[in-house]
Amino acid sequence: MICDVCGKRAASLFDRVVENGKTLEYAYCEACYTRALKEGIAPSEAAKERIARKGMECGRCGTTKEQFESGLFFGCPDCYRDMREVARAAIARLQTGEARAISSAFDRKIPKIAVEKSGFKTADECTAEELTRDAAISSRIRLARNVEGRSFPRIMTAADMGTVDVIKGAVRAAEGIFDARILTMSGLNKAEKKLLLEKHLISLPLANNDSCGAVIIEKGDSYRISVMVNEEDCIREQCVADGHSLRCAYEKLHAYDLALMRELPIAYDREFGFLTACPTNVGTGMRASQMLCLPALERTEAIDDVLKTFGNLYGLTVRGYFGEGSGASYGMYQVSNSRTYGISEKETVELVISAVERICYLERVALEKLFKEHKTPLLKGIRDSYGRLAYAYSLTLPELLEKLADVRLGVILGELPVKNMAVINMLIERCITSPEITTGGISDEERCIARANIVRKLITEEK
Ligand SMILES: [Zn+2]
Ligand SMILES: [Zn+2]
Repeated sequence: MICDVCGKRAASLFDRVVENGKTLEYAYCEACYTRALKEGIAPSEAAKERIARKGMECGRCGTTKEQFESGLFFGCPDCYRDMREVARAAIARLQTGEARAISSAFDRKIPKIAVEKSGFKTADECTAEELTRDAAISSRIRLARNVEGRSFPRIMTAADMGTVDVIKGAVRAAEGIFDARILTMSGLNKAEKKLLLEKHLISLPLANNDSCGAVIIEKGDSYRISVMVNEEDCIREQCVADGHSLRCAYEKLHAYDLALMRELPIAYDREFGFLTACPTNVGTGMRASQMLCLPALERTEAIDDVLKTFGNLYGLTVRGYFGEGSGASYGMYQVSNSRTYGISEKETVELVISAVERICYLERVALEKLFKEHKTPLLKGIRDSYGRLAYAYSLTLPELLEKLADVRLGVILGELPVKNMAVINMLIERCITSPEITTGGISDEERCIARANIVRKLITEEK
């Protein structure tokens, strides 16, 4: 028998109470029995209270239903098990939108083999590969994981620590997959943190977690895989890849994820899947996202329809990448899955891929429309922007992004000396991650000049 007070330890003491003519039996472990007496309450009262609260609090970390509902964060993996109904209701409320395959309405035959044609190709002449190559900038997979028996980082106490074991496990899992380097937040200075933030290798909450935050990154310059320890969840794995390569990023990260599960007791539940601090991530714990450049949809004012359609119908989130809500998105959008429950990891990847292909198709249709209806202003904007970048002395990031949207369209239309979109993608990456620009200690003015140097070189020398 299990103790009626803690619901964990074996009971060794028993008690019978008569209440309203009914005989009730309670069982206690020694610890709970003596604690109740010490606190001056009858052990049966403690048991009754506890039974009444069943399903409304976590026996391990003490998080209550009320606490959860005020912030939507659970305290530890056991919260899901002790408050199953609460978790079910939250998931039903938070994870809305149908996670279904994109088909029928958007189904059209994207040719498998490229049409031979020089210059501008219409949407119907492009293969999916051509469409995405011209609009997809980068792909990213993130997996949230936690460890059995440990609280989630936001309520972690000294008793839960053992961070070193988690880091060690996460590093061991990297063996044979990537060359791991550990950086603890307490060991980094402000400038170093800023650099990692700009490269999206750490998040702001992690940067501020000096007590137990750490990041494991790949040695060298590629930083494809990174692992945050003690961010919102104990472990957040991430893999980034260029262009339209979600499948490739997923495969790489999945290999690491499997190794991680061999090294650490990752919190998993048969009903809920991977257990995460916030139920918006429970299930796969996965966020598959792709950054897209969609200037034509933005200029033809069709972007809002696209955001709505893909957002509501397919359980996806499509939003401006820069300055959310400010309207200044520079044509850059991020498409990601919003559901993590009731869908598998592979299905999630395929869902985002098919959505991206449809969105890129619509972007090309919008460009055809622009070209047909506003040819002169379109081509003028493209040439002006190219000229500005090719002769830039100094460039702010917003100005660069604004001009690049034009230049991308110019590359697609075959109107510029630059013929290869990879050059433009490289330029975006260098301008956000290049050491000349991101190293601390240089002024904004120097940064803008360094940025202009990189841009000028890339677009005039590499064709
Ligand atoms: Zn007990
Ligand atoms: Zn708990």
